[in-house]
Amino acid sequence: MTKRNNPNGNHIKVAFFSTKPYDKEYFESLNIEYRFNITFFESALNQSTANLCLGYEVVCAFVNDNLDSTVIRKLANNGVKMIAMRCAGFNNVDIKSSMQYEIKVVRVPAYSPEAIAEHSLALILTLNRKTHKAYNRVREGNFSVDRLMGFNLAGKTVGVIGTGKIGAAFAKTIKGFGCDVIAHDLYPSKSLMEKGIKYTDLDALFESSDIISLHCPLTPRTKHMICESSLSKMKNGVMIINTSRGALIKTSDVLQALVNKKIGYLGIDVYEQEENLFFEDLSERIIQDDTILRLNSFPNVLITSHQAFFTAEAMTEIVSTTLRNIHEFSVGKPLTNEVSPEMAR
Ligand code: NAD
Repeated sequence: MTKRNNPNGNHIKVAFFSTKPYDKEYFESLNIEYRFNITFFESALNQSTANLCLGYEVVCAFVNDNLDSTVIRKLANNGVKMIAMRCAGFNNVDIKSSMQYEIKVVRVPAYSPEAIAEHSLALILTLNRKTHKAYNRVREGNFSVDRLMGFNLAGKTVGVIGTGKIGAAFAKTIKGFGCDVIAHDLYPSKSLMEKGIKYTDLDALFESSDIISLHCPLTPRTKHMICESSLSKMKNGVMIINTSRGALIKTSDVLQALVNKKIGYLGIDVYEQEENLFFEDLSERIIQDDTILRLNSFPNVLITSHQAFFTAEAMTEIVSTTLRNIHEFSVGKPLTNEVSPEMAR
C-alpha cells in the first residue's frame, strides 16, 4: 500500500454516517490522539446520501447503513478509498463491489463479546421472570404476582448457534446458571468442549433445546435459518433469542409460530426491517411497519432496539479500534482488521 503524505496520517478526512450524540462524544474524545478531520453526518449512508462523500478518503459506517453496489460505485467515484465499519458485522456491505472498486473494508472484529452475551441473558431473564411487567405493576400499586410465573433456568437445555466470541461468552455464562448447554458451529471450540459444552448437528439442537440463542453471522447460508421447517423441529413453547442479525429469522414464519404457540417466548435485539426503525425516536410518528406492530402486540415478545453492544466498555473499544484502523490506512500500514472476500461467504 502506498504511504500517504503525512507520516501521522492526521490530514485524513472521514465522513461519519448515522451519527448519534454518544458517537460524537466518544469519537471526539479519543480522536484527540489522532486529529483526523471527521465530519459527523446524522443521516444514514444510502444511495441518496452517498454523494456527501465527495473529497473524503474514508467513510465510517454502522449496522444499518446501506453499502450496496450502487452506493459503493458512488463512493469510488467520489474518491473514497476505505470503508471503516464501526461494528463487527459487515453483511450490509457489498464486499464484491468494494473489491472491484479497490475500496478497503475494515471492521471491529471484537469489542466486548460479554456486552452482547449479557444482553442475551437479560432478554432471557426478563422474558422468563417478567421483571418488566412486575416493575410497572408495583409502581402502580399492584402487588399481585398473578401471571408472573416463570421457570427455573437450572436444568434447562440451551442451544447456542455460533460459538465464536459472543456465542462462547454466552455459553459460558448460561452454563453458570446450571443449564445443559449444547452448541452448533462450523468450527467447534475445543475449549468450550472442555467446559462441558456438547456440539450437535442443527436438527438435534432444534429438537432438544428449551432456549435457542443465535450468535452466528448473517450469511447466505444462515439467512432465515429460523423458519417454518426449523420451527417444526423445535419443542413446543421454545424460547428464541436473537442478538445477532435480524434476517437469521424469517419474521413471517415466526409470527405464525407465535400465533400457534410453537414459540413460547421471543427476545430480539435485531429485526429484519430494522433500518427504518431502530436507533430513532419515532414515538410521535405513525409507524408504517405492520410486522413490528404485530410483534409488539404479543405479551411473550420482548424487542430491544439493537442495544446489545451498548456498554461503556464496548463503546470505548469500538472507537479506539476504528480510529486505529483508520490510522493504519492513513500511514500505509497493513490493515489488521481488513474484511476479506472469503469472510463474506
Ligand atoms: P465470530 O466471528 O467470533 O463468531 C461467529 C461464529 O459463527 C463463528 O464461530 C463461526 O464459525 C460461526 N458460524 C458461521 N457460520 C455458521 C453457520 N452456518 N452455522 C453455525 N455457526 C456458524 O462473531 P461474534 O463476534 O461472536 O459475533 C456474532 C454476530 O453477532 C455478528 O456476526 C453480528 O452479526 C452480531 N453482533 C450483534 C451485536 C448487537 O449489538 N446486537 C453486536 C455485535 C455483533
